[in-house]
Amino acid sequence: MENLRKTDPEIADLVDKEARRQRDKIRLIPSENYASASVLEVSGTVLTNKYSEGYAGKRYYEGQQFIDGIETLAVERAKALFGAEAANVQPYSGSPANLAVYFAFAKPGDTIMGLALDHGGHLTHGWGVSITGSFFNPVRYGLNPETHLIDYDMVRDLARKNRPRIIMAGATAYPRIIDFNVFAEVAKEVGAILCVDMAHIAGLVAGGVHPSPVPVADVVTTTTHKSLRGPRGGMILMKKEHRKAINKAVFPGLQGGPHNHTTAAIAVALKEAATDEFKIYARNIVENAKHLAAKLNEKGFRLVSGGTDNHLILIDVTPRGITGKPFAQALDKAGIVCNYNTVPFDSRPPADPSGIRIGTPAMTSRGMGKPEMEKLADWMNQVVGCMNDEAALARIAGEVKELCAGFPAPGISA
Ligand SMILES: *Cc1c(COP(=O)(O)O)cnc(C)c1O
Repeated sequence: MENLRKTDPEIADLVDKEARRQRDKIRLIPSENYASASVLEVSGTVLTNKYSEGYAGKRYYEGQQFIDGIETLAVERAKALFGAEAANVQPYSGSPANLAVYFAFAKPGDTIMGLALDHGGHLTHGWGVSITGSFFNPVRYGLNPETHLIDYDMVRDLARKNRPRIIMAGATAYPRIIDFNVFAEVAKEVGAILCVDMAHIAGLVAGGVHPSPVPVADVVTTTTHKSLRGPRGGMILMKKEHRKAINKAVFPGLQGGPHNHTTAAIAVALKEAATDEFKIYARNIVENAKHLAAKLNEKGFRLVSGGTDNHLILIDVTPRGITGKPFAQALDKAGIVCNYNTVPFDSRPPADPSGIRIGTPAMTSRGMGKPEMEKLADWMNQVVGCMNDEAALARIAGEVKELCAGFPAPGISA
């Protein structure tokens, strides 16, 4: 960054500090990761200078001799990696990808169905403060109050009663495998489009450690920057019959020119995700999460649904006599970064809910494994006992930093 340091030392300094923060802390936010050096390199190239409205071979600007090749590679790699009939790699991120699906298949006021936000769904699955909850008529399914698993009977009943145009399956805070086959059956029965939003689990699906929604869903949306470990971006996989409608909805329906530097970085990430190394990575994410869950259980933490099948763990911390927000803040002081989160059927407000949400994709990218999960569970347990003891939290942060030094973070030079 030698040029940046000269022209804008203020920003350069803040970027340096953020890099050090990412290097020195255990990052547990389950939607975050470390993109590879190659992904970061291509994100910062001259591709950002080019306008390319349209699709390969059908652009509205000249000078696409090389951009078309880049986007075609990204599309072909996406199709090959996930076994999809068609792919659109232009959505700016996960939320716009979902908006494109709504725009392709629904009119304002139409009924859509999704998992309630406070049961683990995403804002864009029809929550009230989101455009998806105010331009459409949202129907929300939830979890079984005993098992904290998706209530598939409720999904079926609500779909039969409300006849939604689109059913969204997928979650942002759900630690278990989702049965996409049930959703596909229900969607077929009521004549709805099934959209699976696999933003959180795309890397696990790519690595073969989570069932793929691609064979059974009409369309599959995803972010590219979570467990898939690419640049910030979005992607839509679909059956051939939906390609025209989705492509039209993305451009010119919702967006202008695609972000070509991101498209190239998605192509690179997809190539990385097709390797045997990535399969091992995906397996390790889940093994680490299960091991961490078991150790947290042993320490007396209450895990939503009792554990995890994927990369994510939701913890109700109230049985320990604390609440989510101050615990998340104390953990951050101890060098362990997560987010506070509601738990299913939470009686506390979202601003200080009962839980925290953690995940293993970023730690696993650093090569951390079972011994490190054990240390982490131990530190988290220690923090419960010293939430207001700044010296104790700082001591733990020092130990965390020392551990992190042994596991270089991809994309960050020491
Ligand atoms: C993260 C996420 C999104 C949104 O992605 P952004 O890139 O933040 O817009 C959508 N759906 C789910 C399930 C997510 O987890």
